[in-house]
Amino acid sequence: ASSIEMQGLHKRFGRDTVALDGVDLNIRAGEFFTLLGPSGCGKTTLLRILAGLEEPEAGSLVVGGKNITEVPPHQRSVNTVFQSYALFPHLSVRENLAFGLKMRGMKTAERQAKVDEIAEFIKLGDLVDRHVDQLSGGQRQRIALARALICEPDVLLLDEPLSALDAGLRSQLQVELLRVQKRLGMTFVFVTHDQQEAMVMSDRIAVLNGGTIQQVGTPDEVYEHPVNAFVAHFMGHDNLFAISAAEDDWVDTELGRLRLDPAEQRDAQDGWLLIRPETLELDGEIPEGYNRLQGTVAERLYRGSRIEYRLTVNGRSLMAVASNLGQRMHNIGDRVTISVCPEDLVRVAA
Ligand code: ADP
Ligand code: MG
Repeated sequence: ASSIEMQGLHKRFGRDTVALDGVDLNIRAGEFFTLLGPSGCGKTTLLRILAGLEEPEAGSLVVGGKNITEVPPHQRSVNTVFQSYALFPHLSVRENLAFGLKMRGMKTAERQAKVDEIAEFIKLGDLVDRHVDQLSGGQRQRIALARALICEPDVLLLDEPLSALDAGLRSQLQVELLRVQKRLGMTFVFVTHDQQEAMVMSDRIAVLNGGTIQQVGTPDEVYEHPVNAFVAHFMGHDNLFAISAAEDDWVDTELGRLRLDPAEQRDAQDGWLLIRPETLELDGEIPEGYNRLQGTVAERLYRGSRIEYRLTVNGRSLMAVASNLGQRMHNIGDRVTISVCPEDLVRVAA
C-alpha cells in the first residue's frame, strides 16, 4: 500500500469551469478514503488526476513517496474501477481478468494461476467461465473489481462503483468491498455522492464542494461535528437553526434560547446551531441543566428499528429520532416536551 499526498491541485476546463480549486489532501497507506460531494464538485476530476488521465495546471502528486505528477498513467501503480463496468463484452470473464496481465507480458500458465487466485479471493465461483454478456450488473461490477485488483496496484481508485446497483445488491457489495480492502491492506480512494455509503465504508472522508475540500475526518467527526452548513446539510442533517445572538453558554435561535457547552462558543460568530435528531428525548425526565422545549408532533415515520418524528417548535420544524424500544409511540397532534443536553449542541459556521 502507498500513501498519497496532493498539494495545490488546480484544474479547469475551458475558461470558465474550475473543476479543482486548490486541493491539498493526504491519504494514508492502507486507508479506505472516500471523496464525498454532490455531482459536479470535482470528484472524478481528482481521481483522473491520480490516475494520470488528466493533467493539473498546478500542484503536485506524491504516491508512495515518489513524485508522479509527470508520470504517464501506465507507469503509475494505480488502477481504476469506474461506475460503468468497462469490461470487454466479447470476451469471457477469464479473458477479461487476464487481459491486463497479458499486456504486461505475463506467460499463459502464470496468468491462469493469477486468475484462479483472484477468482478464489473474490469468490467468483463458476462466474469465471461465463461470458460477460451472461452476467448481471452486480456480477459485472465484481468482475470489474477483480480485474482492477489482479495487477496488485498500490492504490485502487473507485469512481462510484456501486451507484448503478439496486439497494440490496449495493449494501452486499459494500460489505464485500470493505472486506477485500481490509484483507489486502491496499489504499482505496473511493468516490461517492451518497453520505450513508461514505460513512459505512470509510476510514476517513473528504467532503468536497465546488472543487474545494470542505472537511476531512472520520465518519463520526464529519457527521457529529460538520465544520460548516454545507457539510452539515450534505451529511443529511435537517436540524440547523440560525443563531441570532450568543453569549457564554447560551444562544438565541429560531427555536428559542438554548444552553450549550461554553467550549462551543470558541469562535463565536453568527452561524448555525446543529441539533442531531437522535440527541432529543421526548417526554422523558429532564436532568438538571438540560434544555427544555415544547413542541407538537406533526409527522411520524415508523421505520421499524426507530421512529422519526417531525415536531413543530415555535413554528419551526424539528426532527427527532427515537429508538423503537417499547416506549409509548407519540401520535400526530400530541404535545411533547423535548429535552436536549447542552453538550450535544454543536455550532456550525455559515
Ligand atoms: P463529479 O465527479 O464530482 O460529479 P467532475 O469532476 O466530473 O465532478 O466535474 C467537475 C466539473 O468539471 C464539472 O463542472 C464538470 O462539468 C466539469 N468537467 C469535468 N470534465 C470535463 C471535461 N472533460 N470537459 C469540460 N468540463 C468538464
Ligand atoms: Mg463523477
